[in-house]
Amino acid sequence: MEQETVLAQAGTRTDPGTGALSTPLYQSATFRHPALGESTGYDYSRTANPTRTALESSLAALDGGSRACAFASGMAALDAVFRLVRHDERRRVVVTEDPYGGTVRMLDQLFQHYGLHPTYVDTSDNGAVEAELARGGVALLLVEFPTNPLLRVADIAALAQAARRVGALFAVDNTFLTPYLFRPLEHGADIAVYSATKYLGGHNDVVAGAVVCRDADLGQQVAYIQNAAGAILGPMDSWLLIRGLKTLAIRMDRQMDNALAIAEFLSTHPHVQAVRYPGLAGDPGHDLLLRQAKGCGAVLSFEVDDPDRVRAILKGVEIFSFAESLGGVESLITYPAVQTHADLAADVRDRLGINNRLLRLSVGIENINDLLHDLKTVLE
Ligand code: PLP
Repeated sequence: MEQETVLAQAGTRTDPGTGALSTPLYQSATFRHPALGESTGYDYSRTANPTRTALESSLAALDGGSRACAFASGMAALDAVFRLVRHDERRRVVVTEDPYGGTVRMLDQLFQHYGLHPTYVDTSDNGAVEAELARGGVALLLVEFPTNPLLRVADIAALAQAARRVGALFAVDNTFLTPYLFRPLEHGADIAVYSATKYLGGHNDVVAGAVVCRDADLGQQVAYIQNAAGAILGPMDSWLLIRGLKTLAIRMDRQMDNALAIAEFLSTHPHVQAVRYPGLAGDPGHDLLLRQAKGCGAVLSFEVDDPDRVRAILKGVEIFSFAESLGGVESLITYPAVQTHADLAADVRDRLGINNRLLRLSVGIENINDLLHDLKTVLE
């Protein structure tokens, strides 16, 4: 079955009791046991809830994984992935050097205190990753694909092989592309991790996360962590996510069309010095991304010529909202240096190019002429 069909029919499709097409919302914390030693399969909603199960089955099918677990946020999903690292002799985690700032905060400020050692590398450079892995002691390689906000592109199959050679788990944060455009597990990743708050939900109305595992045993370990640590996605939010999934394909198609038109417009604008969007034919990641994925997503970033212009842009936009997040139907504009990436050290931000002239756009489904007019107006 094609992804569009799996998406449109996400959820249970039929409730045996009533025939309801929409997945019922089981807003119940606990479930009555028929008799001692008997269970309907549901006992207590931290462990499993039928609405969440319907969502998790759809997420596993979309990524071709054996098991998916839905979490209260993308950070809770990443937290579960980091908790998989339990070796005594392997305590290193190798991570993309320009990931979402919260990933860096979680590793540097939380997991470092529990003996995990993060190292940040340019994961668009296979040689740099291999050199880090060769230093030994690596339990997990985590790659953001493409990176946030610089949209750099990694070679996932090559990195999967490199991770396998040293016995490290390989996780891909696939938040930006979603399984509609890219299925990391098919390219050798062990784990796909998501901020489902973004495209999977798609309406800026739910905070959620997901972990999908290729291997059943690993999936069981994540489910154990999900139940033991308890950062589950509630029934209502699971229901909202199922509803969001149904339109992911058409939302993403429209968002990508709009993103490309905006990237082309910005590329020729006199006040714009650089545009980063792998969908542009001249972008350094263009060919590599399209060799692996069905499309380039709808996040792009651009540098204006003068930092003093940023304040006026953020205040002046009317269709774009100046807000943190991405992936929803409404277009957003973000200032990474002071918002999403404030937790990166200043020297790292400077070296990477996350400077005070860089703005990130999450392009929505609005009419393209309105979006272009908004940007034209604030750039004048
Ligand atoms: N991963 C990526 C790539 C993100 O952009 C984000 C949030 O922006 C997260 C993870 C964290 O997700 P959440 O905000 O749902 O906790």
